[in-house]
Formats: sequence, C-alpha cells, structure tokens
Amino acid sequence: MKPKKQKVFLFGIDGFVPKLVFGRYRNQLPNFSCLIEEGSYGILNSTVPPTSTVAWTSINSGRDPGETGIQSYMAKQGRHYRTPSLVTSTDIKTPLLWDMLSRKGKKTIALNIPLTYPAKKINGVMVTDFLTPSFDDKSVYPVSFKKKIQELLFGKDYMFDVAGFLGYKKMNLDFLISQSYKMTKQHFKIARYLFEKMDWDLFDFVTIGTDRLHHMFWAHIDPTHERYVKNSPYKNAVLDFYKYVDGEFGKFMKHSKMDSGTTVMVVSDHGMDHMIRRINLNDWLREKGFLAVKKEFADFYANGPKRLDYETIDWDKTSVIATEGYQANVYIYDKKNRVKILRRISKELPLIRGVKGEKLNTKVYDTSKIYRKKGDKAPDAVVYFDNLRYGTNNDIGNKGLYSEGTTVGTDDAGHAPEGVIILKKEGGPLGNLGQVETVQIAPTILKALGIKEYKKLSGKPLI
Ligand SMILES: [Zn+2]
Repeated sequence: MKPKKQKVFLFGIDGFVPKLVFGRYRNQLPNFSCLIEEGSYGILNSTVPPTSTVAWTSINSGRDPGETGIQSYMAKQGRHYRTPSLVTSTDIKTPLLWDMLSRKGKKTIALNIPLTYPAKKINGVMVTDFLTPSFDDKSVYPVSFKKKIQELLFGKDYMFDVAGFLGYKKMNLDFLISQSYKMTKQHFKIARYLFEKMDWDLFDFVTIGTDRLHHMFWAHIDPTHERYVKNSPYKNAVLDFYKYVDGEFGKFMKHSKMDSGTTVMVVSDHGMDHMIRRINLNDWLREKGFLAVKKEFADFYANGPKRLDYETIDWDKTSVIATEGYQANVYIYDKKNRVKILRRISKELPLIRGVKGEKLNTKVYDTSKIYRKKGDKAPDAVVYFDNLRYGTNNDIGNKGLYSEGTTVGTDDAGHAPEGVIILKKEGGPLGNLGQVETVQIAPTILKALGIKEYKKLSGKPLI
C-alpha cells in the first residue's frame, strides 16, 4: 500500500485555558476530549511576554521573541520614535512555517494568524488577522481569492475582529457575543471551503473569539473574582462558545482528509486568568524619578488619567518607560546606567504589595538573559506582577497605585502564561506531555512533514 501523504492540521485557539479545557469544561467538549484521550496533551508555556502577536509568531517560526524581533504590539518605542506604530508582518526577522514549506514546494493554508498582515506571497492561501486595517489587497493572498471570500459570505463585510483594535473592551456584552459568533462563523466557513477544496500540507488556522470573550466575561464565570456576578445571565457565555468551537472542530475531524497521515495539533498562545487589579507602573516610575513629563503638560495629566503621549515626555529627564497592559514591557533609555537601573527596578518592583497588603509573586525578566538574541528594540525587562494576576496600567495621572481598568476600558481577565497543547499523530506520544515550549511547535510540524530544517531550530520536536 502506498504510504499516506503526511499532513499537519494546526488549530490555534487564542487564549484557550488549560484548567477549563482539561478540567471544568472537558466533559462538555466531546471532540477535544476525544483528541486528548487518543493523543497527548500538555501545558504550552507562552512566550515572555505572553502577547498574542508575540506568541503566535514564536509558535509559527520556532524562534523566541528576541530572534523574531516581535516582543510587543508596538514596532518601535522611545524617544526617536515619537509616534509608536503597530507591528506588522514586515517586522518579523525570521522565516515562518509557510516560508520554509513554500521553499520545499509544500502548500500552506494560513488563516487569521496574528501578525500576518500584510499577507506574503506563499505557496498556498493566506487570509490575515485581527490587526488587518481593512479587507484590502494586502489582506488576502492570492488577491484573486478575495472574490471567493465575498462569494462565500454573500457579499457581507468580512470581519477580522469583533471591533477595531481593542474596541471590544467598551462593547455592549450582548453585542460582543453576537459579533464573536458572527466573525467566527465567517472564519469557519472560509476555512472549511479551503480545507475541502484545496490540496494542502499544512492547514494553519487561528480563532480569536475565545480571547475576546474571556477578557470580558471572566467575572461572570469565576466565583473567586472580586467582581463576580452571581447567577449572571452570562454565566455560560464562555462555555457555550467553547462548545461551539468544539463542534466546528469536530466537523473537521470527521472529514476523510483527517486520515492516519495527518498530525493534528490544537494549541493556544496563552491562557487566561482573573485579574485582581492593575498596578499604575508609569505613575510609579514618575514618582521614583525615572519618568518625567514636560512642565507644560503637568496639568494635562493632573486632571484625570490619560494614555501616555510620547510628545509630552521630557526625554532629557526620562530613563525608563513601561508599555502594554497585562505584563509591562520596560524600556531603559539611559544605556550607560542600564545595568544599575535594571538592578534597582528588579529589586523594588517585587516589593510592591497587593491591594490588601498581600505579598505578590512578581517576576522581572531580564530579556538579555532569557532571549537567545536580544535585538536593540526589545524591551530591557518584562514584568509580571503576581505572575500576571495583577495587570499594569501605563496611563499617567491615576490616583494611587492601583486601578481597575485603563482609559482603553476595563476587563475582567488577563493573559496567563500557560496555554494548551493537544497532539495526535499515528505512532506519536500518548498521555501527558508536561510542559511544552512555543519554540517546540514549528520543529514538530517540520519533522512531521519530513522537512529537515527542524534540526536548525532550538526547540525539541514532540514526535
Ligand atoms: Zn492571544
């Protein structure tokens, strides 16, 4: 008998939570449960920081954030880049799976993977992600496939996200739910079409509705949350969505293309957990003399918190700023005193107590030590307050050390460092895989497809 063609089906679920998938919701997710039982499963340790764009880029390249050049949502930070811009796929410094596969004549279908806009020329089809500005000619490769998408959606607008960037944080909850289903149905419809009609070696597809719902509904599902809503009408909002995704995933699994030659992987870029409060880190830095705003803007921030505007910073008196909203990415501009400053904040930040005076399990990661290669645009440190159960608020002008939300909005949950991995391959591992690193996913896929380049990557394949 002719050996079966080797294929990989990689289903990415943004923010899929281990304790829900493997525990509380498991019995209600028949298709994921079946995959867990027939294959192997584990915790996928996210990147530092556990930001979606950062982690998915690592998962799809087999490289750490220092190597990929992606450590943040923002492309460039600091005094020479007064207006920070969002990162795009052109900022990625390393080849991604579809680049490596294309060179070997293998086909990839890459759908909705964070940080793929603008779409690249690949051997296969690409539809870009939630950071895509509009359904333009750079959002689909080949461009001719745009017409097919419109046909499949009967002319309706294609949705890259539930709202504009971060817009979901201020949305009406019922509307957020309906938008999440509407978007995800579109994505599954297009995925399903390509899955069936196209010949592919790697089918790589990410769904993000889970992430949006976790952020906004955590207080409705977690009795330990300080804003827990008892008997909430939304108590099943997350479970229902998980069930819906499980059902759609099951439809793929039942298809004849998912034969014994197909390696199936389900991965999430990070988990989610309730967020107790946020630490007003830039205000703290300002109080400690690391950050200064120009005199003429002191009043601007004095009458209520505002997002830190780079034009208002007194750069001659500023040596450190923090960005991002869950972990903090810390940039040190006084390069001469970098080591001294880093040592000082590494000592002082873990002394910050929680809102009830409790001791926090705060970690300060020195990126020059954890990345294999630290580019000059990488943050100098990444801070997890209480291992991310406290977020950060980097607005300026807050009262006190803690806040519930930021000027962007208030959410109930933040990213947790642990994501999910489930793997099924004929002759592959069974049972608990323990802790797996993001850099192990790409080499596993390359090896399953018989591409020797996996040996050049640092992560050990799981098969
Ligand atoms: Zn994510």
